[in-house]
Amino acid sequence: MNLQTKLNAAQNSFESWRKTSFSEKQILLTKLAAILDDHSETLGTIITKEMNKPIAQSIAEIQKCALMCRYYAAAENVLQPEKVKTEFRISEIHYIPKGVILGVMPWNFPFWQVLRFAVPAILAGNTVVLKHASICFGSGNRIEQLFLEAGFPKGVFQNLEIGHAEVQKILENPIVRGVSLTGSEKAGAEVAATAGKNIKKSLLELGGSDAFIVLDDADFRNAAESGTKARLQNCGQACNAGKRFIIQKSVEQEFLPIFIEEYKKYVPGNPLDKETLIAGMARPDLADDLEKQYQMALKAGAEIILPLERISPNEFIPGLIKVKEGNPILEEEVFGPLGMVMLAKDDHEALKLANDVKFGLSNSVWTTDEKRQQYFIENLESGTVSINKSSSSDPRLPFGGAKSSGYGVELSLLALKEFVTVKTIVGN
Ligand code: NDP
Repeated sequence: MNLQTKLNAAQNSFESWRKTSFSEKQILLTKLAAILDDHSETLGTIITKEMNKPIAQSIAEIQKCALMCRYYAAAENVLQPEKVKTEFRISEIHYIPKGVILGVMPWNFPFWQVLRFAVPAILAGNTVVLKHASICFGSGNRIEQLFLEAGFPKGVFQNLEIGHAEVQKILENPIVRGVSLTGSEKAGAEVAATAGKNIKKSLLELGGSDAFIVLDDADFRNAAESGTKARLQNCGQACNAGKRFIIQKSVEQEFLPIFIEEYKKYVPGNPLDKETLIAGMARPDLADDLEKQYQMALKAGAEIILPLERISPNEFIPGLIKVKEGNPILEEEVFGPLGMVMLAKDDHEALKLANDVKFGLSNSVWTTDEKRQQYFIENLESGTVSINKSSSSDPRLPFGGAKSSGYGVELSLLALKEFVTVKTIVGN
């Protein structure tokens, strides 16, 4: 099927899908959740084979997708017409689905990123076409089949199998009414520029350089375990990974040895082995980029705590470096198994360091003092602030970025309103 035929199919499907009731759509989501759960091992294996994620984490990704589908399958219909009290006989707000929405998605969570965007967009009455990362066409095709197996009509979700050079043309096509992109800042800026030029809605979920702040009254063991997992799960390739560990100077000697002990548990292994915690990066060129960033940071004065050691084209023994303000690595997203430690003398300095990057996705703060927690809650510049836990998305809670981490909301009931047009009805 050529591209235009697929877009036509998406548009045709939209005409009837938009009229399908919210509750009928939810029944199909319950089926989708059951299929995901029933096939979590085989679906997880697709992920692992495509991008090397350790299989236990791939299976967990599929299970999280099922959980999210169930959340939306039981969600309140916040898209029903709302009455507003005015002097007019009729005054109402209606939420109208926009039509065909394009998803441009990355390889780091090949099922989760796609479904996180597509499920609320589809439940709101839109249809979806996907441009998946070039190494994840297998996942994209399997997701398309899963929608069909769950009973969604043909054309509600289609995988396009195209390279990124074709995205602009699709976005310029009048059938496509909006775009959601998860990926790098560069890809996001280009796609949003095309969407803007064509007056189409865009949602961007971009990179992060999140702070993981450990203050002197934190539970160090818990913080060290969670911090290590936050940095190294999925081989460090997560937008909301803890990337900069800002530690209160007075407890550096106490915290760092525990952190190092946890960090050393992540030894590269076979991604298909269920015990493996860390395996190779998704592509060798991404490993090249990480190595360059490491060398750049060292040249600019970073100190090695644990060396980043490349042991194959895409595998590393994880590294940890101490960096100071002004190091150019802080201007970039570090998307791999390399953590950065920074020291702060007090809460104010920790906050300043945390906010002193262009990104703002999902910071995490570790302190048992509620007043100190409040200070960070009010002043951290990020879409999410996690207290005494690492950052992780939850279907019930909104997820999105501040600053260069993007705009728009995914997950929660708010995501249902991202790809709808608000229509006001007023009169006598
Ligand atoms: P990209 O942002 O390039 O890829 C993500 C998606 O965008 C893919 O589907 C890709 O397609 C597509 N894409 C890329 N460029 C364009 C473009 N100009 N127009 C339209 N679509 C585009 O990520 P990379 O794989 O190159 O990774 C590079 C870096 O990006 C990482 O090291 C990391 O820093 C960041 N990244 C962040 C992610 C996050 O979740 N925050 C996820 C992935 C990457 P194709 O595969 O065909 O190029």
